[in-house]
Amino acid sequence: MEKNVLVMIPGPTPVVKSIQEQMGREIQAFGDPRFVKDYKELIDDLGKLFNCSGQTFPLAGTGTLAMEMAISNVTRRGDNVLIVSNGFFGDRFIDICERKGLNVDVLGAEWGTAVSLEAIDRKLSEKKYAAMTVTHVDTSTAVLAPVAEIGKMMKKHPETMFIVDGVAATAAEFTDVDGMGIDILFTGSQKAFGVCPGMLILWASERALARRKSLGTIPEYYVDFEKWLPIMENPAKYFATPAVNLVWAMKEATAIISEEGLKARDARHHKNAQAIHKALEAIGFSILAKPECRADTLSVCIYPNGVDDAKFRAAMFEEGVVVAGALGAYAGKAFRLGHMGNIDQNTIVQALSAVERSLKACGCDIRYGTAVGAYMEAINE
Ligand SMILES: *Cc1c(COP(=O)(O)O)cnc(C)c1O
Repeated sequence: MEKNVLVMIPGPTPVVKSIQEQMGREIQAFGDPRFVKDYKELIDDLGKLFNCSGQTFPLAGTGTLAMEMAISNVTRRGDNVLIVSNGFFGDRFIDICERKGLNVDVLGAEWGTAVSLEAIDRKLSEKKYAAMTVTHVDTSTAVLAPVAEIGKMMKKHPETMFIVDGVAATAAEFTDVDGMGIDILFTGSQKAFGVCPGMLILWASERALARRKSLGTIPEYYVDFEKWLPIMENPAKYFATPAVNLVWAMKEATAIISEEGLKARDARHHKNAQAIHKALEAIGFSILAKPECRADTLSVCIYPNGVDDAKFRAAMFEEGVVVAGALGAYAGKAFRLGHMGNIDQNTIVQALSAVERSLKACGCDIRYGTAVGAYMEAINE
């Protein structure tokens, strides 16, 4: 019998049956009026749900392509860009921007902490930046950036486009594009939307669309807003083939999210994350991100003394749960547990009980049920 392995990495996340079924549907032509209607509804629903009065682009591609799309449409060669980085994914923007001939300044934070609002404000006052990037949740550190507060402060810096990488946050950490003053937000289908990998969603404000228009022709082709705008308006037109089944899967995921409500979904993730942190601390782990900037979508769990990373993660796999290794200086010292999307108490109990068994296999003297019990107490409070 093929082994069932629960995927608890920070994306892809578990895909519920109703979304899987959309992936398995018989293909339709992209010009089929039934598909055109579905695609148009997805575009409009995503715009409404995240309160974006500009344009929403759900396209084939991954989060990294969305990073490139964000930068390409609001900057021209020689512009200054400020990168606010709370870890590995923040840093990814450095390479993307340098390859485009942009002048990059980086504000970094010690891993586990977030760059402060004051530091950002000070930097933006020093010179003129065409754009600034902020990672809502950095998936290497599980640090949450104060996006709403930054957005408020950005009113003082209207020449700078506020780009938010929401790949490990959007649809789990509350996000309101217009309300938070975000110019570009993007995510990937495989994270908090709980869909298979392969689709990016990018929301652009009216301001971002106007900036793109002011640039004339840009060197990029596939990610150019101007190429996609007519298709987003009327998906019966062709520019590049849409990911038909992923559109359907995203439509189902968006319906699930709308039904739950963004605020309720945020609250569920918050309560769940706090209970998970209590559970892991009860069996000797410590959480990398400081409590004041801790994300609700994943955790970087630092091992108790003496636990070998490779051995622990191999044991987890044997026990039917896959978790991710840590990055950077924390590689070998911690593992990463994803807990975003369409998961419930049963999923977490399954994962935590595998963590208990794997710790035992690594020689730790813990009592079965310690983490599971702490989780159950906290989540049902
Ligand atoms: C996963 C992730 C990305 C990259 O997305 P891909 O779909 O792997 O290209 C970018 N930023 C953050 C914060 C992520 O978590």
